[in-house]
Amino acid sequence: MDDCIFCKIASHEVPSNIVYEDEYAVAFNDLNPQTPVHVLVVPKKHIASIAAAQAEDEQLLGHLLLTVQRVAKALGVEESGYRVITNCGKDACQSVQHLHLHILGGKPMQERMG
Ligand code: C5P
Repeated sequence: MDDCIFCKIASHEVPSNIVYEDEYAVAFNDLNPQTPVHVLVVPKKHIASIAAAQAEDEQLLGHLLLTVQRVAKALGVEESGYRVITNCGKDACQSVQHLHLHILGGKPMQERMG
């Protein structure tokens, strides 16, 4: 999509701190990290959110989760643990309308969600 910031990051049109990339996905450090490790995993294909994913995206969605696993391992948070979040829609405060999985780690987190 022309005016999507994450499409532009995925295509290298806009620079970012990319920590992993393959044919289908890219992972980069969040500009405004909430935890010592805060990386976003995004598909190169523009999908607005998890709610917009289609049956044809099934394999891609699985790939994104395995990319999370790979990136978490590479960043050294596999053993201590990490949180994976995708915000979907207004009530969840999704601010970028391109599917992204937050990997949050590097410190102990609160149990509470929401
Ligand atoms: O889940 P949500 O849509 O709120 O998350 C968007 C995330 O994208 C934020 O954590 C924000 O810091 C990050 N972001 C970024 N680089 C941009 C724009 C947003 O890392 N250019």
